[in-house]
Amino acid sequence: MSASRMAATNSPSHLSPLLIAARSILNTHMIRILGTIFAGLLGLAFGSFLNVCLSRWPQGESIVQPRSHCRNCDHTLSWWENIPLISWLALRGRCRNCHTRISWRYPLVEASIAALWALQAWQSRTIWDWGSLDQDLYIFSSPNAIVCALGWAIFLWSLLALAFLDAEHLWLPDRLTLPGILLGFICTVLQTRLNYNMTSWLPPPPTLAHELAASALRCFYAILAAALLILLIRWLYKLIRHREGIGLGDAKLMALLAAWLGLPGALLAFFIGILLGAIVGVVLLIKPSATSDPHKEWSATKLPLGTFLCIGGIISALWGQPLIATYLHWAGF
Ligand SMILES: [Zn+2]
Repeated sequence: MSASRMAATNSPSHLSPLLIAARSILNTHMIRILGTIFAGLLGLAFGSFLNVCLSRWPQGESIVQPRSHCRNCDHTLSWWENIPLISWLALRGRCRNCHTRISWRYPLVEASIAALWALQAWQSRTIWDWGSLDQDLYIFSSPNAIVCALGWAIFLWSLLALAFLDAEHLWLPDRLTLPGILLGFICTVLQTRLNYNMTSWLPPPPTLAHELAASALRCFYAILAAALLILLIRWLYKLIRHREGIGLGDAKLMALLAAWLGLPGALLAFFIGILLGAIVGVVLLIKPSATSDPHKEWSATKLPLGTFLCIGGIISALWGQPLIATYLHWAGF
């Protein structure tokens, strides 16, 4: 085959439009699969980091120093005892030195972050949906898309952190909720710009500024309304039961959910959270032995509302839109 003929065969213009489309879809799919695997592996590493935070934050310890060690015998972990999931399985959930059980929370957190990040990467249309855009490396041309994707990864990480901290310590630290609200606000406005399917070098249409301002205002009102909802319930509870039932941390958590998911998404998370809390409450009522203290009145058992809200938030973040659409269709809207 002559050189000129070979060049003609390899040239995309020589291929039929159908073949070009098929090749583009295949490439997008392959990149999407590789990206999902990469996000999952990165999730394992950051799940391992979350375990360090979950063990050290409540004790007021540094998350940097000292190196990872057994909390029973202080044995410093070597690199191969510190591999997410694999080390826990290889050591059969026990410390190599003192044989104390290592909590199942460690592999659970690592697997959960990996699964959440992989799911989010798989679903992220902004990153993979290059077909509708007339260029190959959209992600590199749009820093907004990268900021939003990283922001969502941090949001899901924070939700899992808050879920475990509230379950284990009834604690929803401001260091996670408050910066999360600000980041959610920024990413929501950036997402509005992304939805314009625009590239940074094209001049923005005149309506863009208007749209961005509206999006910022909408997000601000959603944060306010979600926090007020919890404050109202807290006030009513205090009025009726004459004691604190819901912490201020829950109000900040709802504001965080609203900043990222919008008001409908946050309300869906709230509904799922309350439903889960009610189910657990009923199980505790039927099985009094399930509580730590059999003499304790079941209604005095403190349920971690934040944990349920976080689980609701994760479900709403990943499947909120189809769930809300199904509900609206079912309700006849
Ligand atoms: Zn040990």
